[in-house]
Amino acid sequence: MRLLLLGVRGSTPAPGPEFVRYGGHTSCVAVLPAGDVPALVLDAGTGIRQLSGPFRGPILLSHLHWDHVQGLPFSRAVDHPDAQVELVIPGADPLATLTRAMSPPHFPIEPDGLQGDWSFTSSAPLRELAGMTVRQAEITHKGGVTVGTRVELGGTSVVYLPDHAPQLGSSAAEELAADADLLIHDGQFRPEEQALADAYGHATITDALAFAERCGARRLLLTHHAPTRTDDQLDALAKEWPDVEFARQGELVTPSDRSRSRTR
Ligand SMILES: [Zn+2]
Ligand SMILES: [Zn+2]
Repeated sequence: MRLLLLGVRGSTPAPGPEFVRYGGHTSCVAVLPAGDVPALVLDAGTGIRQLSGPFRGPILLSHLHWDHVQGLPFSRAVDHPDAQVELVIPGADPLATLTRAMSPPHFPIEPDGLQGDWSFTSSAPLRELAGMTVRQAEITHKGGVTVGTRVELGGTSVVYLPDHAPQLGSSAAEELAADADLLIHDGQFRPEEQALADAYGHATITDALAFAERCGARRLLLTHHAPTRTDDQLDALAKEWPDVEFARQGELVTPSDRSRSRTR
């Protein structure tokens, strides 16, 4: 299993020359079980515009905040006559939940205006999706229900928690992330910004590290970088925290292999 990081930015896209090395697109990760074809996608931030397609498979939304859904109607891979998408959304009424965000006057079309074959289902604790074992559980964030996701294939496990405040109390996240080969975790804030992290339901780098250690995760890759965090600032953080990796858009990640490769 490999992962293609299509968007690693939190809150809003970050365009401009100071953001080109880590990338400006918001949350989206494609899972490639074998070969180069994405079979499952985590979140649909603006990074999903870079997905190759037509896409056939599940897209799992961690939650409905803008930075995790805004790319959905702008991705040619998923808004495509030959696309076949199961959109998995937290909560009991997935289509109604999405339609609240994606309908006039907030947006010109509703979900049924997307091209291709679409179905809308609710997150579930355990499912087989695209040949992989997928576990989901509600985790601590703010502003609605947020789920974390664990994907397992052939003895390799990846856990995706892009918006998570482990410091705000217990959640099922620890169980979800136990002994993960790779933990992709919220690292939006610096330790000095703890009050902001707490207020918005995000993690500081130290919160993420402490959580990864508690879970026994083998590798920690921080994502959801603050939209104001420049490339130079992220480089400085990477130097300051050598045991932590900072996600870069366009990176192809093999969970058990710390050597990193870029695709674009
Ligand atoms: Zn977010
Ligand atoms: Zn959020």
